Amino acid sequence: MALLELDGVSKAFGSLKAVDGVSFQVQAGEIFGVAGPNGSGKSTLFNVITGIPFGPDKGRIRFDGTDIHRKSGNDIARLGLARTFQRETSFDGLTVFENAVIGAGYGGPARKSVAVREAAAEALEFVGLGPAQFGRLAGELSVFDRKCLMLATAIAMEPRMLLLDEPASSLTKPEIETSIGLIRRIAGRGITIVLIEHVLTFLMSLSQHLLVLNQGTVLAAGDPKTVISDPRVVEAYLGT
Ligand code: ADP
Ligand code: MG
Repeated sequence: MALLELDGVSKAFGSLKAVDGVSFQVQAGEIFGVAGPNGSGKSTLFNVITGIPFGPDKGRIRFDGTDIHRKSGNDIARLGLARTFQRETSFDGLTVFENAVIGAGYGGPARKSVAVREAAAEALEFVGLGPAQFGRLAGELSVFDRKCLMLATAIAMEPRMLLLDEPASSLTKPEIETSIGLIRRIAGRGITIVLIEHVLTFLMSLSQHLLVLNQGTVLAAGDPKTVISDPRVVEAYLGT
């Protein structure tokens, strides 16, 4: 059974069909890439899956056997579906550690505070933010460290699935290499990953399956090598 299953999912903003009848499945344990030109509906797709800040207008979304398309963002997170955002998001006035603790608080309804703090510390060290960074304000971190903090906060939730929205955007080449390694290690923890990126090479090195969106619809999906050589995909990318 697929861990995540979308069936005919749509979201419109007025007359603009940002996501238009999208269906696909993500299997447990894989890294599933989502590509597409700017404005093709990638971030909106993550929004409707996670219910943050809105669910779909139409269609069905199942996560781990449960219908989630009418659930709140909080309930979906508690089922084990976490996400990061395209722009670095954190509570800037809180410390690095406090941010991770907020994520860890989602990791189970009756989690004891000691376990929450341990999960937060472990997730931070996993992404490379050691104890020396714990007391720093999130707002003072570099772009790269803020992205790492956003990842740590999501990992601290101990999700079954993590949706990553353009984790490599505005990073330097060496930082991108570090991010690729980190994403592999996250997958190595048994977390299923859906990865949005508009840079195809980044996705090619990580994904077992690739889906390309264009104007809110699925242009091509399947084996990454086959998908990127699809003439419609080449045209959609060259046309932007
Ligand atoms: P991508 O992430 O692929 O670049 P988005 O999902 O952000 O694309 O956007 C898809 C389309 O929906 C774009 O035309 C964008 O302007 C529009 N859009 C996204 N979010 C909103 C919103 N909250 N209100 C109105 N239009 C939106
Ligand atoms: Mg986007």
